[in-house]
Amino acid sequence: MEQDTQKNTKQERTALVCVAPGCTNTNINTINVAFHSFPAEQSSMQRWLTALARAEPPDVSRETVCSKHFVREDFLDDQCFIIRNFKTRTLKPDAVPSIFTITLFKLFELKSDHTDKK
Ligand SMILES: [Zn+2]
Repeated sequence: MEQDTQKNTKQERTALVCVAPGCTNTNINTINVAFHSFPAEQSSMQRWLTALARAEPPDVSRETVCSKHFVREDFLDDQCFIIRNFKTRTLKPDAVPSIFTITLFKLFELKSDHTDKK
């Protein structure tokens, strides 16, 4: 008797993955999180890559940054939308991910520690 409407609409779901350091969120294993595509504009894209300590450009068809890495001020207040029952907002054009579960500075500290010691 139970009819799952999702069974009828078989869609190829490409997993969106979050590429932030220390984050393993995907749109399949995580709810209540929005996945934000990399900005198309080159300078903004570069700022995201710098923030993520990443050199190579992303595969924009699946690599994103989830909403956990943005502060409230990064979002536009007047543009609100809902993804899978989760209310989120549009990112400001100049928003850059800034919240990470591991501290990148720690990694840099360790590295410089090594080279500085004589
Ligand atoms: Zn994430």
